[in-house]
Amino acid sequence: MEKNLPYIQVKDLPSKGLAYPENYNITYRPFTYGEVKQYSTSNISLQDRVKQLMEGINANFDKYSITLMDFLFIILLRRISTLGSTNLKLTYFCNGCREENTETIKLNNIEFKDLEVKKLPLVLKINEDERYEFTPLTVGDYIQLLDMKKDNDDIAVMAKQMRNMKYEDAYRVIANEYRPDVIEIYSEIDKKLNHGVKPVKFKCKKCQFENEVNLDTGGDSFLLDKFRSPQRPNSLRIVLDEGA
Ligand SMILES: [Zn+2]
Repeated sequence: MEKNLPYIQVKDLPSKGLAYPENYNITYRPFTYGEVKQYSTSNISLQDRVKQLMEGINANFDKYSITLMDFLFIILLRRISTLGSTNLKLTYFCNGCREENTETIKLNNIEFKDLEVKKLPLVLKINEDERYEFTPLTVGDYIQLLDMKKDNDDIAVMAKQMRNMKYEDAYRVIANEYRPDVIEIYSEIDKKLNHGVKPVKFKCKKCQFENEVNLDTGGDSFLLDKFRSPQRPNSLRIVLDEGA
């Protein structure tokens, strides 16, 4: 049954394919009606949701080494190919006056930032004896971080992206770093590797303050959320409005 579904090749990935083999090929299929129904209703863990979402994605290499940001991009494409460019309704609190605002954005107006490096891995060399290699967080890394409940731990996220060392050793190296210039480079590397969703600008309806609203609030990304969620507990609430 699976093979009768149309698979579409992904182009223009946010990662520019730098983390993949040269002749990489990634394809996705639209969501099935059954999946849409399932995503709309089921209450499962985030890691199980990620695994479910991966079922409609194929690659000619280990697909769990697809970068997390490419994965989110593909999920967005899958949603659009299934439901059309529906509206995302989001609520944010104004940075000027704290007023609660509600806005809508069309799914196909969501833009991703490109990875800002020319090649991977990023290599950090310190003196003669220290060499650290980094590539962006993958779907597999993300699931492991969720399993460890470390997805909000910046050091853990960084350690997962350090590729020439075991995770535990990388964590220790980064956590014990004390040289200010090296710490600064770590945060620069983090910024370079984290190619996320571009923030959207909205003017507050009350005070006209121009707010930049981040759509990817950390790992718990809106794109992984249920297709229709009535409410989110944090300050940014997003629901998929299928009316338009
Ligand atoms: Zn305001």
